Amino acid sequence: MSPQELQASLITKNINLSAEQMQQLQQYFQLLEQTNKVMNLTKITETGAVYLKHFYDSLTPLFYDRQLLQSQTLADIGTGAGFPGIVLKIANPKLHLTLVDSLNKRLNFLQKVIDQLQLTQTKLVHARAEKFSQQPQYRQQFDYVTARAVANLPVLLELCLPAVKVGGYFIALKGAHAQTEIDSAKSALNKLGGQIERVEKLELPEDAGERQLIWVKKIQSTPKKFPRKPGIPTRSPL
Ligand code: SAM
Repeated sequence: MSPQELQASLITKNINLSAEQMQQLQQYFQLLEQTNKVMNLTKITETGAVYLKHFYDSLTPLFYDRQLLQSQTLADIGTGAGFPGIVLKIANPKLHLTLVDSLNKRLNFLQKVIDQLQLTQTKLVHARAEKFSQQPQYRQQFDYVTARAVANLPVLLELCLPAVKVGGYFIALKGAHAQTEIDSAKSALNKLGGQIERVEKLELPEDAGERQLIWVKKIQSTPKKFPRKPGIPTRSPL
């Protein structure tokens, strides 16, 4: 998918990126390409593949939830090289974005992206998600939390849902096999105060695969004991 094809296909979804926003995506792509030579950020490097599998893919939640185009607080947990968080921020400059990752070198890269693209209201937090959501300034504070390719759903819920405010949403960006994960997430949802509100299935253009987006609504406050200590959610999922 070329940059022009990305822009055109977003127009069909009522998302209009300006020349300046397209320029920001290009700068982001260039930084990714340069830095990837010295640091492992992504296996996807070819321009068309980055625009499709990172940029378009990161923007898919906007196709179904127009609230994400408003002034909202959003934390992207396990953001890695900035997906989906940075791309959502480029598409919606009104977003108040917090990027969380446990790997500091990825955050150094993200700081460069923030500086060069002059992104405002964008904060980096170097932390394990288990610790992040136990801090009072982040606990149950966000309208939205997102995560892509971080863990399977029962684990992910414990890492992400505690940071969502009651009434807000955790959006999990998943591949074709999400249903199995959903089936095993009932107990985690009950314990953490979440409810799956909807699952949107889509095909990426160019036969690049099926995606499933899961909206988990925070219906009740999460008990203080969650998330448990680092590593425990993965070793012993709820
Ligand atoms: N979300 C990005 C994407 O879709 O390209 C990155 C995915 S990468 C496979 C997973 C990222 O999650 C890594 O950057 C890793 O450091 C981070 N991560 C995994 N477990 C984490 C945890 N418990 N707390 C914070 N970050 C975590």
